[in-house]
Amino acid sequence: MSAIGVEASSADFSEAGVSVASVVAAVRRTYDSGRTRPLGWRREQLQGLIRLLAEREDDLNAALARDLGKNALEGYLTELSITRAEAEYALKHLAQWTRSTRVPVPLGLMPASAKTEPQPLGVVLVIAPWNYPVQLLLAPLIGALAAGNAAVLKPSELAPATSRAVAELLPQYLDPDAVVVVEGGQEASTELLAEQFDSIFFTGGERVGRVVLQAAAKFLTPVTLELGGKSPAVVLDGNFSAIARRLVYGKLLNAGQTCVAPDYVLVTEEAAPKLRKHLVRAVAELFGKDPAKSADLGRIINAQHWDRLNGLLDSGTVLAGGRGDRNSLYLEPTILTDVSPDSPVMQEEIFGPILPVLTVKDLDEAITFINARPVPLASYLYTQSAAARKTFERRVRAGSVNHNISTVQLAVPGLPFGGAGASGTGAYHGKYTFDTFSQLRPVFTKGTALDTLKVAYPPYNGLKRRLLRRLL
Ligand code: NAD
Repeated sequence: MSAIGVEASSADFSEAGVSVASVVAAVRRTYDSGRTRPLGWRREQLQGLIRLLAEREDDLNAALARDLGKNALEGYLTELSITRAEAEYALKHLAQWTRSTRVPVPLGLMPASAKTEPQPLGVVLVIAPWNYPVQLLLAPLIGALAAGNAAVLKPSELAPATSRAVAELLPQYLDPDAVVVVEGGQEASTELLAEQFDSIFFTGGERVGRVVLQAAAKFLTPVTLELGGKSPAVVLDGNFSAIARRLVYGKLLNAGQTCVAPDYVLVTEEAAPKLRKHLVRAVAELFGKDPAKSADLGRIINAQHWDRLNGLLDSGTVLAGGRGDRNSLYLEPTILTDVSPDSPVMQEEIFGPILPVLTVKDLDEAITFINARPVPLASYLYTQSAAARKTFERRVRAGSVNHNISTVQLAVPGLPFGGAGASGTGAYHGKYTFDTFSQLRPVFTKGTALDTLKVAYPPYNGLKRRLLRRLL
């Protein structure tokens, strides 16, 4: 068995005769058999994932288009190629990452040897959201497999076509006894969280993050939380047409449903008129005069989110955009000005194509504004001034600091990706994913032929005391 569905209720689920508990137990048996530990097995899994992403690109893109209206190139760039690059990077570095490292032994304990070696944690659970339903499910899996773990994956029910595609495809490319997909929504998650895992990797909102953390506490399971928040962009100076394009691109990728999208802009009063003009131009430049006709702009995930977003449009003056069509889940890219910090759009992560632009006096006021709110996942500063960049780096609280770009930092596998405070705990990408799913286990070895430790045992006479103090 490799993919099961928990679509309606746990009653239906048990009627199907397959319990989540038995699925998790089967994966644990695979892990306990030792099958996932050899490097050969790990390599095969990573190669399998790479093949899946190459051979089934069309199937996955079709699913992404159905769920999110993602065009094939955006699907390729932001989901498939980024995930494939992660898998290739892990494959390339696997031998190096898994190697043990010698650690020097203090004189008093010699002769002996000490080393650290990364060990798999066991059976890991990955719970993913709907906005990047391929990448956010498979990128954590890559590190989990590279580290020698078995895994249970729970895709989001709100991206059902992608959930189905992944559940059907993974068993064809990966060891189906060690990697299992459990489909379903809250009830499936709840059943999974009642089971004991050795690590839980959760990507999603703050509310469910709390539920996951509470469930994990019962078993003292380590948890990685990849949450969201309101990531600010501060604009001081620079090439305004480039700045506007970078903000608009970062914001409108996946129709604004990106965890690190610039949520709102803080611009100095001096720079505001120029920025506003260029933002309006940039939207037209990237998505045409009528973005509804653009094949490159995604759609809102469902009517509930569309209604939520539509309700935020009254939070300021609509400088551009503001239209939409609930039936087709289209929402026009919208720039809002005259936005009060107390307005609804400034209360929670927007997660849609609405960009509020607020003015501040200077960088100091912008940093104070940001630090007075929950710690965001990312922060963006647009300026040519090295001194301003340094001040921002030193003072702003955020999961990451990025200068003169928005959102594209995710494509650097060498950078850890994660939040701080309310935006999450732990980080991944590249080697960091491997580390997240490994225990760096120390191993200390000493022979018995020569019992040098005798000197440390009582009774402690004057000579021993002096010797021990010198040696240790
Ligand atoms: P969500 O928290 O509603 O759902 C995430 C997952 O949790 C889904 O698989 C869902 O089925 C499951 N779930 C829902 N209710 C549950 C419950 N009561 N108990 C256990 N599991 C439950 O998030 P979402 O709406 O799918 O995604 C949007 C959020 O995710 C945004 O806040 C966004 O910022 C965040 N996000 C973060 C990152 C990141 O990498 N840090 C990436 C993408 C999205």
